Amino acid sequence: MKLSKEYKFWFMPGSQDLYGDDCLREVAEHSAVIVENFNKSGVMPYEIVLKPTLIDSASIRKAMNDANMDDTCAGVITWMYTFSPAKSWILGLKELRKPLLHLHTQFYQDIPYDTIDMDYMNTNQSAHGDREFGHMVTRMGKNRKVIAGHWSDAETQKRIGEWMRTAVGVIESSHIRVVRVADNMRDVAVTEGDKVEAQLKFGWQIDAYNVTDIAEYVYQVKDSDAEELTDQYYRDYDILLEGRDEKEFREHVKEQARIEIGFENFLTELNYQAIVTHFGMLAGLKQLPGLAIQRLMEKGYGFGAEGDWKTAAMVRLMKLMTAGKEGAMGTSFMEDYTYSLVPGKDGILQAHMLEVCPSIASAKPAIKVCPLSMGNREDPARLVFTAKEEHGIATSLVDLGTRFRLIINDVNCLPLEKPMPKLPVASAFWRPEPNLITGAEAWILAGGAHHTAFTYDLTAEQLGDWADEMGIETVYINNDTTIRSLKNELRWNSVAYK
Ligand code: MN
Repeated sequence: MKLSKEYKFWFMPGSQDLYGDDCLREVAEHSAVIVENFNKSGVMPYEIVLKPTLIDSASIRKAMNDANMDDTCAGVITWMYTFSPAKSWILGLKELRKPLLHLHTQFYQDIPYDTIDMDYMNTNQSAHGDREFGHMVTRMGKNRKVIAGHWSDAETQKRIGEWMRTAVGVIESSHIRVVRVADNMRDVAVTEGDKVEAQLKFGWQIDAYNVTDIAEYVYQVKDSDAEELTDQYYRDYDILLEGRDEKEFREHVKEQARIEIGFENFLTELNYQAIVTHFGMLAGLKQLPGLAIQRLMEKGYGFGAEGDWKTAAMVRLMKLMTAGKEGAMGTSFMEDYTYSLVPGKDGILQAHMLEVCPSIASAKPAIKVCPLSMGNREDPARLVFTAKEEHGIATSLVDLGTRFRLIINDVNCLPLEKPMPKLPVASAFWRPEPNLITGAEAWILAGGAHHTAFTYDLTAEQLGDWADEMGIETVYINNDTTIRSLKNELRWNSVAYK
């Protein structure tokens, strides 16, 4: 499935006509140099397009509405080269509905001490032009990202590139459609939530179908298609028979191929990009979708188990935000399972019954067929592997009844102390920041779930900025976290996010 669109970002320098045409010409020329440099940097995931310099209320208002109307525009980057009286921006900013980045930079990196005069000062005055603009955006209470730094600086460019992915997450969020072919697991609280509020806040559409509706698509899969996909599995993955009959094993794997094709046909035809299932609600499906769901996640679909539509939508969102990223290491649905509480070897063993995305695998995954030990179906085929040993973020979106909260924990995936020959599922072992004890206490105090949407390829800042744009609360758990400050933050947030 196609994950990334040809989005563009509009670069809009601001100025005014007080300094004459020569000055405006310089603003336009230098803006072109900056934009060209950005596009050549190799760190921008999307193209930046230079727009004419904005100097008055009418042109600003029109430019912002043009950005609103253009489906390919995923965000607007403003920069005040000279002073630009901020009242001129009020109407335009009020009407702008695309993500806004205020780039606080300056064309020249240094001060030309020997030659500087008042002409130079009048032209090169971002230091106060951007403050005037920033004041207005703050006064309006409008959310935006501010990035300060010289435009040629690698760190500045990297941060702009990262913000672009946040902006695409903001734009794409309202296109996410989740299909529930099973309801929430009975009695479970944290996977529940207000679907109307989710559509208001995030734009997600969450629809329910009978499992029989999707099972029908699985029955209709042609045997030859299932055979062909099974052959592909056998080429792409190692096979761990472990004493099972070869023919019987292949039949079990082929059932997952049928499910993958049937599910994908259903999702494509009905235009859904994320799905939830439930091991206890399978109707006519012979196996819990395991390998099939793992493959769909790898293709870019969102997934949540036991009816968890919030995590399914978050996995999809994170797949979109990381689309096309060079050297991407993967994004998956995940679940906290078991601890090692041994000092120095402490961490959380992450896994799920079956459904972990192979995009996070450290090596070629292998197929196993094993009993599920829950439910009453055939032994499902699944991919087993361990995750890469890198830094990532684990996120949990929870509904607190009056509001949503996004919890973001920086975690470090570590090597497993020993292989786990009897554990027939994919897994990761991570230590949350700042350490297991404080991380776990903070997570529990914040109300985080046991299910998470996990990725190596986004930062806490990117997801937090996305949450800001959605108007919801974010709680960060990282090396700066102390329980005392976290409890205060939660207390203050309960007032701020009423
Ligand atoms: Mn679960």
